[in-house]
Amino acid sequence: MKKPFVTLEQLQEMNKSYPTPFHLYDEKGIRENARKLKKAFSWNPGFKEYFAVKATPNPFILKILQEEGCGTDCSSMTELMMSEALGFNKPGDVMFSSNDTPLEEFAKAKEINAYINLDDITHIEALEEACGKLPETVCCRYNPGGVFKISTSIMDNPGDAKYGMTHEQIIEAYQILKAKGVKHFGIHSFLASNTVTNEYYPTLARILFELAVELKEKTGADIQFINLSGGVGVPYKPDQEGNDIEVIGESVRKVYEEVLVPAGMGNVAIFTELGRFMLAPYGHLVTKAIHEKHTHKEYIGVDACAVNLMRPAMYGAYHHITVMGKEGEPCDHKYDITGSLCENNDKFAIDRMLPKIDKGDFLVIHDTGAHGFAMGYNYNGKLRSAEVLLKEDGSTQLIRRAETPKDYFATFDFCDILKDIKY
Ligand SMILES: *Cc1c(COP(=O)(O)O)cnc(C)c1O
Repeated sequence: MKKPFVTLEQLQEMNKSYPTPFHLYDEKGIRENARKLKKAFSWNPGFKEYFAVKATPNPFILKILQEEGCGTDCSSMTELMMSEALGFNKPGDVMFSSNDTPLEEFAKAKEINAYINLDDITHIEALEEACGKLPETVCCRYNPGGVFKISTSIMDNPGDAKYGMTHEQIIEAYQILKAKGVKHFGIHSFLASNTVTNEYYPTLARILFELAVELKEKTGADIQFINLSGGVGVPYKPDQEGNDIEVIGESVRKVYEEVLVPAGMGNVAIFTELGRFMLAPYGHLVTKAIHEKHTHKEYIGVDACAVNLMRPAMYGAYHHITVMGKEGEPCDHKYDITGSLCENNDKFAIDRMLPKIDKGDFLVIHDTGAHGFAMGYNYNGKLRSAEVLLKEDGSTQLIRRAETPKDYFATFDFCDILKDIKY
């Protein structure tokens, strides 16, 4: 069973300061999980997690992860700017894993000493054009194509993904980079998303470690790190069993000792770029039931909508819902839980069995800490919610205020056609 990390009483207290809906994050859970990851890979002296900023782009969250020894993984100008402002600007603090990259972003990444991860062989020239001189260390993103399988089950379809270089291209890219004076190299690959199996990282690691040995043999490149990227998932459904990061770390170690160590590559650092695994379970979208509607189906209308959490509307993703204070009651009502967008896909749950919901009930939507607030948008003139941090001592801190109409209209501030709006 999925249990919220807050109680109804805590939410009622918070609601005095923060109107619903809001995103709530659990500092204790975030820190404990980050430490578990670090421990699982502590066998590798160079190990580092680069948190995928796009999952939860909040400076207060990044600060917590920084204190736990993480760097950031960026893929846009504003993510680089946020990282720099937080002091992620020393060599090794930032990974820049972008694609279709604007040249000014390459320049910014180099300026803040980020590791630059090239998505394509043609980006070598783009990087030179952007930066003049190539950095001393360059990473290349690999895409083996085909389908990615673990034993017989198909996990994802890299052959259909826009990312990364082919096998031939990555060898050529290393040769070109080396000829142009690049001294150290990295390899990166992201082959399957939200995997809920301990086998994903070890399977990917074998592919990348074997590639590393081949690249070293064929090009003589000094490979300093292998970035296993993101993709370690979380169990969104209550009957799913989560990943065991300790088992994953140990399994990667075995492959490392089997493939890299005998090739004289026992000093290669392992990097990860996890987003979802780091944050998803430690975020709740807190919302209140404001309407009930009985037509062809039973509807509960809440004060959050898809702009606060897009995953159900966009991917049909399951997010567990707890009706606060009714955890012990039978789930004998079948509801669609809806938001207020003029879009029929604005539903957090469809035909979900839940306890009877009354107007005013608090609903916690689980696992919204990653790719939740971050994917927010302003459709229908809806405003983004606040983000609140539940600190380790039980107190709360506003870590992003809710948008106001003034924010919504801010991009018209250059003209006076809306000057008569009263805020
Ligand atoms: C999105 C992304 C990640 C993080 O993915 P998760 O599924 O959240 O772990 C890591 N690296 C890159 C390049 C990404 O685009």
